[in-house]
Amino acid sequence: VSSSHDNLKSQDGYLELTSGSGSGLPLLIQRTLAKQISLAECIGKGRYGEVWRGIWHGENIAVKIFFSRDEASWSRETEIYSTVLLRHENILGYIGSDMTSVNSCTQLWLVTHYHSNGSLYDHLNRNPLNRRHALSLAITTMAGLAHLHSEILGTQGKPAIAHRDIKSKNILVKANGTCAIADFGLAVTHSQTTGETQIAPNTRVGTKRYMAPELLDESIDMDCFEALKRVDMYAVGLVLWELARRVISNGIIEEYQPPFYDRVGNDPSFEEMKKVVCIDQQRPVLPNRWASDPVLSSMGKLMKECWHFNPHARLPALRVKKTLIKLAMSLEQSPAGGQMV
Ligand code: ADP
Ligand code: MG
Ligand code: MG
Repeated sequence: VSSSHDNLKSQDGYLELTSGSGSGLPLLIQRTLAKQISLAECIGKGRYGEVWRGIWHGENIAVKIFFSRDEASWSRETEIYSTVLLRHENILGYIGSDMTSVNSCTQLWLVTHYHSNGSLYDHLNRNPLNRRHALSLAITTMAGLAHLHSEILGTQGKPAIAHRDIKSKNILVKANGTCAIADFGLAVTHSQTTGETQIAPNTRVGTKRYMAPELLDESIDMDCFEALKRVDMYAVGLVLWELARRVISNGIIEEYQPPFYDRVGNDPSFEEMKKVVCIDQQRPVLPNRWASDPVLSSMGKLMKECWHFNPHARLPALRVKKTLIKLAMSLEQSPAGGQMV
């Protein structure tokens, strides 16, 4: 039925009984999912809850455990992952959700594929990249986002989805060096056919460091779904900058830094970000060495077209993806291609 089934190793023909939800798993199995999983190690901890590596039918899976006060995020994320036709190789693979009781405390679980490389943020911190590797990460991130953003028409169609929390920590790196977009707790769906936008969006959500100027100065028209996609594209610009810094050219590389590391502290406030991004109109600096590298200079041009102050001047996800693919093709074809990568 869907590609994820390859990983599921069901011998009992269970999968014929699928619920029709995005997980592709039968409801019966989903309701007892937690009982079939043994938690192995905690891989992430935060205000939100915890993420664990667990074992399910002999395979590694990831379990995101929400605090019960955060039930809204759990149900939102579950709902988004259950969207028809959401499945895509560059969207984190969903297995199922479960509500269980541990020592009479409610625990909310969201079970997905596990990626041992962790997030793009972790990956960039740990590894220098060559051009080919960087383009693969960037292209596949954009493929995931373009799929998310696009509506597929028809009775079994897919609504357009705006992520609203794009950042390097919410993009996972798969073992084959491609990316998968994760963390859909703030996502909003929209269908042109029904003209309906789900969830009244709220301005002050998302990660402040990555907030677009129109969120910070509150000029955004929240009723316009297209505006939410443009907010995602602003954040994409910052992620491309984080990535390009980690590409070696002529033996030079920048250390990993988050966007605006040189302007704000660790946990910037809304007002601080507004001052930097809207009032002072600051954007990340493109290092000089990028100018003499064809891939890095093209990526620099792209990121500027993503973080433009005017949301309407920003490129759509599909355009960024196509431009990056062209760049990758010219890299492969260049006579120096072998040495360049
Ligand atoms: P939150 O909504 O609390 O930010 P995320 O879904 O972004 O939760 O997960 C938090 C962190 O846990 C991620 O930044 C990543 O480092 C790690 N993580 C989440 N899901 C996975 C997964 N499927 N495989 C590996 N690491 C993961
Ligand atoms: Mg997250
Ligand atoms: Mg989240």
